Amino acid sequence: MKKVSLPLTGGCHCGALRYELTAPPVTVYNCHCTNCQKITGGAFVVSAMVPQDEFRFTKGEPKKAEWISDAGNRRYGCFCGDCGGRIVHGQTPPGAIAAIRAGTLDDTGWLEPVGDIWTKSAQKWLRFDKLVADGQPRDFAPFIEAFKAQGRF
Ligand SMILES: [Zn+2]
Ligand SMILES: [Zn+2]
Repeated sequence: MKKVSLPLTGGCHCGALRYELTAPPVTVYNCHCTNCQKITGGAFVVSAMVPQDEFRFTKGEPKKAEWISDAGNRRYGCFCGDCGGRIVHGQTPPGAIAAIRAGTLDDTGWLEPVGDIWTKSAQKWLRFDKLVADGQPRDFAPFIEAFKAQGRF
């Protein structure tokens, strides 16, 4: 399999925000929580869990929104003040891990989510055939292992 090269780059819809990721994602999964559905207007989000320290904006100044997640955690999201595109989410106060909205990557061709989380609020017409967590996984280890096994980095 062709390896994905670093850094990964991406940006918002209008291009005012650009970012880079200098380490491989920890895992990639689909999130079906109600926040992700509302924020995107879609059925779910393809989320790339990444080391917070390896992610940085290279162009533009993101706006920030905060809310309480379905799991009860305080979360923040960075988005473009011009086009509204969401780029990255994380915990408040910031932790070691952030979650990139993977559809904002320049190259999405290699993405293959290893599973689905918050399936209890998923749209009823979806079917799941990989790792499944009906809410927030207590342990992401199976998701991390499955992503490693893809051997893309
Ligand atoms: Zn924008
Ligand atoms: Zn979500």
